[in-house]
Amino acid sequence: MTQYLKEARRAPGSEWLKDHSALLERVYLMTQKVFFVLYPVGKRIAPKLTERVVIWGEKTFKGYLFNCQMCGQCILHSTGMTCPMNCPKNLRNGPCGGVRQNGHCEVIPERMCVWVQAWERSQGMNQYANEMRTIQPLVNHALKNSASWINAFEGLDHAKFPDT
Ligand code: SF4
Repeated sequence: MTQYLKEARRAPGSEWLKDHSALLERVYLMTQKVFFVLYPVGKRIAPKLTERVVIWGEKTFKGYLFNCQMCGQCILHSTGMTCPMNCPKNLRNGPCGGVRQNGHCEVIPERMCVWVQAWERSQGMNQYANEMRTIQPLVNHALKNSASWINAFEGLDHAKFPDT
């Protein structure tokens, strides 16, 4: 429990940004376009280095913004730009039946339920608002600590890029 509260504290500005999910959605779409152009080039020239750079980028930026747990199969765009792996029960489809009446978590009462936040934020998105209704497949733990962007591009995860 302490770990989750600490993580939330070390990211000033991240909650504000996540509450502006339409803005993050635009950033996501732009990043996707840039990645589609640059990744195939990097893969051809220096595949290992490219992979390390993508993993570093995800750990750094998504770690800061979303408290990313590096599951390797990112579904942020389907969950209101709120990382589902921050749910103490690690639910990939939520919420569970234990959400408190004030919208807080059953396990960590001081914190809002990740899934309540995911729902509310998803409704502010333009292109991906309805993705919240999609049933997500089980997490493939073999992909942990790998680059979710590469896994999506290569079709190694279940999520893939929604528009491809
Ligand atoms: S869904 Fe996975 S890859 Fe995406 S932010 Fe959460 S832990 Fe990281």
